Amino acid sequence: MQDDRLAKIVSFCRRRGFVFGGSEIYGGLSSIWDYGPLGASLKKRIKDIWWKEYVEKRDDIVGLDSAIIMNENVFVASGHLKGFIDLLVDCLGCKKRFRVDKLEQTGTSLYRCPACGGEIDTIRSKPRKFNLMLRTNMSATEDDPQYAYLRPETAQGIFVNFLNVLNTTHKKLPFGIAQIGKAYRNEVTTGSFIFRMKEFEQMEIEYFTKPSEAADSYKKWIEDRYSFYVDKMGIKKENLRLREHSSDELAHYARNCTDLEYNFPFSAKGESGSAGGWSELEGIADRGDYDLKCHSEVSKKDLSCFNEKGERFIPYVIEPSAGVDRTFFAVICDAYCEEEVRGRLRVVLKVKPALAPYTIAIFPLLKNRPEVVKLAKKIFSDIKDEVNSVYDDTAAIGKLYRRQDEIGTPFCVTVDLESLKDNNVTIRERDTMQQERIGFDKVQEYIKEKLG
Ligand code: ATP
Repeated sequence: MQDDRLAKIVSFCRRRGFVFGGSEIYGGLSSIWDYGPLGASLKKRIKDIWWKEYVEKRDDIVGLDSAIIMNENVFVASGHLKGFIDLLVDCLGCKKRFRVDKLEQTGTSLYRCPACGGEIDTIRSKPRKFNLMLRTNMSATEDDPQYAYLRPETAQGIFVNFLNVLNTTHKKLPFGIAQIGKAYRNEVTTGSFIFRMKEFEQMEIEYFTKPSEAADSYKKWIEDRYSFYVDKMGIKKENLRLREHSSDELAHYARNCTDLEYNFPFSAKGESGSAGGWSELEGIADRGDYDLKCHSEVSKKDLSCFNEKGERFIPYVIEPSAGVDRTFFAVICDAYCEEEVRGRLRVVLKVKPALAPYTIAIFPLLKNRPEVVKLAKKIFSDIKDEVNSVYDDTAAIGKLYRRQDEIGTPFCVTVDLESLKDNNVTIRERDTMQQERIGFDKVQEYIKEKLG
């Protein structure tokens, strides 16, 4: 059932131009995906809402846009060069490679292969360590390589700029630095669509506090981020949960960590092993002073602040680290509905209007009547600077409605022959499918009122 829903959603995303396979005409590239026209729009809206919420609406957080390629020493300090490792094992039957920690264990050294269903014996096929970082050569010649790394998280760009930001913004603790950007990990995946990619995007905040205020801040961030998914992304509460890491699961640097999980449509064979669909959407960690301390030691730069007594200390950091792609995936899964309307299947993407690629679609009822087309185009051109709109006259009205329902457009406006006489148009709501006649100059007002 879950696999069925996942397959439907993947096919929907491709069919409607939300997500395509990377380099597809050359056979694709494993775990690399491209966002199509509608996907790019929806993804941008997610990022814009996050940026507005945390950078523009708060005076204790500033934004940053740091480089993807970073000096090797950044990752010596952060521990990624040594410790960012997955234990991988090959299935001798189907020759596919998997992360040991994601496999279903069936005996002391035995695991089930999620691809062919055969047995993987870790005595015969020894697990090997793989560093997840992607390396690039910055040198002009191959014989004298100068390696640098594509960041595996945006966070390191924030830590290495901590002093720059402090010195240029004169912020006082507590304050945060927020960043949205690409990150790269050489992941091994098993058909989890955009849940686990080699190139993905993160929205991260490093929130620096006094050590005595860290525990309180950590709690607030968990509440804040949970509400963000419910109130701003429209995710249903029943599909969202918090999971605190047990002490043996905690990364060595973390004092506490809570995952915000979404019930993705994975089967037991999927991402989260036997746990079914619940998988990480975001991690919120209390990282203590680990990061700034490590970077202070390796860079030999003083990354401390003064307390009230004039003593130096290294700030603690709370890190709400979210994935743009996983948020996108969760939004689509949560909103994708199939309904029966008058004996026919209606696919409708019930996303929050603020996330929909288009807010309004405008159609002429009769595309062979130039006056009707002209009025519809005029409404479109009057409204498009203010509201995200699209004009479409490439099919019959029923089909045009269905197309917009599928991509989540909350309102459709239709211009007909009557409109030429009474200046009224039909406006239709996506979820209720109810239609109303309103003056064409009242469309913007109507939508603003409906959207509150
Ligand atoms: P997982 O346990 O699923 O591998 P993680 O704990 O390694 O995730 P973090 O390092 O905490 O993930 O990264 C923060 C967020 O970045 C994750 O919650 C997720 O939303 C996103 N993310 C991490 N890795 C990937 C990936 N390979 N593809 C897409 N998003 C990712």
